[in-house]
Amino acid sequence: KKYVYFFGGGKADGKAEMKNLLGGKGANLAEMVNLGIPVPPGFTITTEVCTLYYKNNKKYPKELKPQVDAAMAKIEKIMNKKFGDPNNPLLVSVRSGARSSMPGMMETVLNIGLTTKTIPGLVKKTNNERFVYDAYRRLLMMYSDVVMEKAAGIEPKEGEGIRQKLEHAMDAMKKQKGYKSDTDLTVDDLKILCDEFKAIIKHTLGKEFPDDPWEQLWGGIGAVFQSWMGKRAVSYRKIEKIPDDWGTAVNVQSMVFGNTGDNSGTGVAFTRNPATGEDVFYGEWLPNAQGEDVVAGIRTPYPVNKAGKTADTQHLPSLEESMPHLYKQLFAIQKKLERHYRDMQDIEFTIEDGRLWMLQTRVGKRNPQAAIRMAVEMAKQRLISKDEAILRVKPEQLDILLHPSVAPVAEKKATVLAKGLPAGPGGATGRIVFTADDAEAWAKRGEKVILVRNETSPEDVHGMHAAEAILTAKGGMTSHAALVARGWGKCCIVGCSELNIDVHRKEIRVNGKVLREGDWITLNGTAGRVYEGQLDLLPADPDKNLWYKELMKWVDNVRTLRVRTNADTPEDAAVARNFGAEGIGLCRTEHMFFGPDRIKAMREMILSDTVDERKRALAKLLPFQKNDFIGIFKVMAGLPVTIRLLDPPLHEFLPHTDNELHELANEMGVSFEKLDAKNKSLYEFNPMLGHRGCRLGITYPEIYEMQAQAIMEAACELAKEKVKVIPEIMIPLVGHVNELQKMRDIVVNTADKVQQEYKVKVPYTVGTMIELPRACVTADEIAHVADFYSFGTNDLTQTVYGLSRDDAGRFLPFYIENGLLKDDPFITIDQNGVGILMQMAVDKGRKVKRDLKMGICGEHGGEPKSIEFCHKIGLNYVSCSPYRVPIARFAAAQARL
Ligand code: ADP
Ligand code: MG
Ligand code: MG
Repeated sequence: KKYVYFFGGGKADGKAEMKNLLGGKGANLAEMVNLGIPVPPGFTITTEVCTLYYKNNKKYPKELKPQVDAAMAKIEKIMNKKFGDPNNPLLVSVRSGARSSMPGMMETVLNIGLTTKTIPGLVKKTNNERFVYDAYRRLLMMYSDVVMEKAAGIEPKEGEGIRQKLEHAMDAMKKQKGYKSDTDLTVDDLKILCDEFKAIIKHTLGKEFPDDPWEQLWGGIGAVFQSWMGKRAVSYRKIEKIPDDWGTAVNVQSMVFGNTGDNSGTGVAFTRNPATGEDVFYGEWLPNAQGEDVVAGIRTPYPVNKAGKTADTQHLPSLEESMPHLYKQLFAIQKKLERHYRDMQDIEFTIEDGRLWMLQTRVGKRNPQAAIRMAVEMAKQRLISKDEAILRVKPEQLDILLHPSVAPVAEKKATVLAKGLPAGPGGATGRIVFTADDAEAWAKRGEKVILVRNETSPEDVHGMHAAEAILTAKGGMTSHAALVARGWGKCCIVGCSELNIDVHRKEIRVNGKVLREGDWITLNGTAGRVYEGQLDLLPADPDKNLWYKELMKWVDNVRTLRVRTNADTPEDAAVARNFGAEGIGLCRTEHMFFGPDRIKAMREMILSDTVDERKRALAKLLPFQKNDFIGIFKVMAGLPVTIRLLDPPLHEFLPHTDNELHELANEMGVSFEKLDAKNKSLYEFNPMLGHRGCRLGITYPEIYEMQAQAIMEAACELAKEKVKVIPEIMIPLVGHVNELQKMRDIVVNTADKVQQEYKVKVPYTVGTMIELPRACVTADEIAHVADFYSFGTNDLTQTVYGLSRDDAGRFLPFYIENGLLKDDPFITIDQNGVGILMQMAVDKGRKVKRDLKMGICGEHGGEPKSIEFCHKIGLNYVSCSPYRVPIARFAAAQARL
């Protein structure tokens, strides 16, 4: 069985496609060799060995040792050096290499093979004593740290690890001699230091530093495998859901030295700028340095080329200037690599005495703006297809373009005040206020405010709207604050439990600090971080981004799934239309009952005893609603608008305080006692499953009648002005076909009447939400009376799971942390449960009406994984909050590819 894959001398056993077996690093080293790129020879021990190692009680398979010996002999032959040879020693590095790079894995150990026997030979050979002892010093540091301490499972106290002890010793030496930089250390200094290091290692770890090259090599190999089960690696895998049995590979590679003098150096580069995406070769290098010096920031690195110079680095020598010949070669190689891999590459190189070697290539990480620009430009350069360009960007990466964000530079310098759940992305800064009314009043004066509350309710919406951002101490990702904020694309952090809010004293106590009304804070809603003070923000303006615009054009050509928006006001509708919404999938009407003038009429209506009284109260609401609809229809001219009739439990509209009740009693001319009794009689044990949705329409048909009238009057009025209006009237919470039939009759009768009155025809449809399990199961019966379906997956998830979303915060996070559930079903559709019912409803519905229009209007409609699912089961559209429309368009395209 082959456990060792060789690369070097122009040929490799492996290739890029073998990442699973060889790890990312090994597979790409092999690929580079096959491409004729200069790579120091070496070999990869497969991930299989790692798996076997753990299966067999930490023993290697028998075949491994002879295969390693043979591969070492091959390296020796190519390099014309011998491992452990006192006259002409070969040195190697041992590098870990999982399928994708993983924090917590063993870092690299360089210069393996240096011993008291090989040192003199190498000194003679290189005629550079300082270089050799510098290399030895590094070997002692790296090896004792990662092999002798970490891999052995020794857990030193904070700050007392072997690495720190050795660094202390080195610092002490530098201080004593008055040196500034590591490079000031002389040969004699280094010699003394190495002896000191060995003594400290022996003393601290109770073990001699191995002076045998083979012991060093196997120690290094073992340490890589050990690190696979290291604490940090294991917990990282848990979070990223990477299985333990993937294993890691080990790469052993002949050393090349960037630290032999001024004709040598080392660097890291990207084939395109990873921050901006601009198509220019970008990188950093250092002359006379080894491996990690560039990354570790021991010395400030120089730009690789003239193009990469900034005002700050203008005076530093670029590789392009210092070694033009080698720069040219490097430039050609990076071009070749990018063409070959058809993506931006992140590369490592080392120059030894004027000779260039490549040490690593991999697909480079990039920030979201860069990802978009690169994808578009690569497609235009025909490096990739347009479809591939679409797949290169994660839908969530668009988010950053759609909201202002906290400037990373400012954020890096600031200290986090508190952390919460990132409910509404983007950044915001403003002054603290504690009530919705204050928020509104301050905002009117032109102040930027952030509304800070324990939680929010529908009565706070005016203040939430006026605020730059919302911060709550309680509640989860689906709390009122989160939902409303997301709908507006507003920055919002919820569940920030470290905040102690005292509304009366207008104070927040948090981690030993006191913040008062009017103090500035800044929120990073994308990460859920709160800062004290006013941090810089970067503006959002996606339309200025030409690459984004281009990419979205391609996206719209690819996708078949339509994207609508959830919007209750003309302003929201306008934002969404700008973002490319193709209609409204959910216009909630309950918000229309909450304005200061309206809520009174609404309460009157609820607390009335007779139909006549109710009708009188409703008549007051009619003009408001009609006006709202006119505004929305105008913005959405030519596009469908789905309006849901009143849905929430009645008690949400009721007065909460005796004061409010008194006031209302006065106005209605009834006694406080009577009103109070009525109010109490409406109490429900479980409002979520109580008197709500179409059950309201069934018992108080006047409500739906009024709403249908308002909708149709608005539509007819606009139709006369030649505005194209496409109303779709939606009945919520239907569980039985009879409910829908009854409500449909009311709507149709009312609509007919209005149309006769206005003497104009407006085509309208009447459909239903599918949000109860029974509706899914009987979707065929319901299809006979419905013109369309809209899946309300929030309620459907609650009812299928028997899980109240307002109470789930107490235990659902525990489920997810402990791996009982992979995802929160309120964020991503539970495909195996809720999803099966959806599929069933789609099939049953379409059996009755082949072209039955179906969509989704739950929160899931803006979540990429759920969107993919909606595409798969054949929905016609998804509907999501305005600021998620571009993301949904994007995800819809990706779902098709
Ligand atoms: P990481 O994945 O953390 O970057 P690497 O295995 O790539 O770890 O190695 C760390 C550093 O050591 C890199 O700068 C790399 O170029 C350098 N390095 C690794 N192997 C060799 C080698 N054989 N010769 C010279 N430098 C090396
Ligand atoms: Mg590397
Ligand atoms: Mg619902």
